[in-house]
Amino acid sequence: MAGNAIEIRGLVKTYAGGRHGPEKRALKGVDLNIPQGAVFGLLGPNGAGKSTLINILAGLVVKTSGQVTIWGFDQDRNPRQSRASIGVMPQELNLDPFFTPREALEVQAGLYGVPRRERCSDAILAMVGLEDKADAYARTLSGGMRRRLLLAKALVHHPHVLVLDEPTAGVDIELRQMLWQNIRRLNRDGMTIILTTHYLEEAEEMCDEIAIINEGEVVARDSTARLLGRLDGKTMIIQPETPAAALPEGAGLEVTRRADGAIVIAYRASETPAEAVLAAVRAAGISIRDVRTEQADLQDVFLDLTRRRAG
Ligand code: ADP
Ligand code: MG
Repeated sequence: MAGNAIEIRGLVKTYAGGRHGPEKRALKGVDLNIPQGAVFGLLGPNGAGKSTLINILAGLVVKTSGQVTIWGFDQDRNPRQSRASIGVMPQELNLDPFFTPREALEVQAGLYGVPRRERCSDAILAMVGLEDKADAYARTLSGGMRRRLLLAKALVHHPHVLVLDEPTAGVDIELRQMLWQNIRRLNRDGMTIILTTHYLEEAEEMCDEIAIINEGEVVARDSTARLLGRLDGKTMIIQPETPAAALPEGAGLEVTRRADGAIVIAYRASETPAEAVLAAVRAAGISIRDVRTEQADLQDVFLDLTRRRAG
């Protein structure tokens, strides 16, 4: 295969309408390649279609049309192999309350046909820090422990690709760090990771490549570095000593006055050095009491891309 862990072509999902509303086109023809060995981020606002996409990969939701290939196996022609290649940590905490973590892993391994001698439940439990809880009932586990158990379950059949749907939504910092550590270690050992998140800093920190999805369409797909590189925009915010009579002017400067009297100057750092912005301020006869700059981050690309489509 051509180095892709996942290949998606023309993927469409329409949820049938019913008592609860009209039919919903959740995915409108998605094309996406995810390279082997990546930590790939799927970003998008609520309702964008992230979980739908992931649940189709996982075989939990049936696509309407299109083609999905996982680790070289077409999902329709080789359903068993494609399913065996992927492990999914779902967004919801759907655990059987009567199983202990060890039992839950054994059952999961059984479902995936993992031979007994190839099972390593204890090692997986240790990896997610649940070795002490191996024989506790799931209903006695805290939310964070349940989430770690879901991760453990996704790993029992040694998948090539691990998919995590909002793994750190609503978890505390300690658990987030632990999940990130686990994800990094699994990736170092060769696993391809796909995660959805609406925490942009998580995507910045963890992901080599990112697709931004909005209203069922991929609106951007690039390396994290290049997406951030697009962010050349800076903003300088100036508090004048006395109310400014005139606003600064200059090529490439976008100047507005805020209600509190502050002057807000947007500019492109690659085209206009900060010193030139300050010179324009002085040329307008403004003496500066306070100045600070703001830099765009992934949040801005994200808002820009999702807003442009909506408009
Ligand atoms: P995300 O994970 O990005 O928040 P989802 O994939 O969960 O988005 O949802 C995408 C769209 O599909 C939303 O409008 C959602 O309401 C709708 N949707 C999701 N699941 C169902 C379902 N089972 N039946 C009908 N509509 C659904
Ligand atoms: Mg979701």
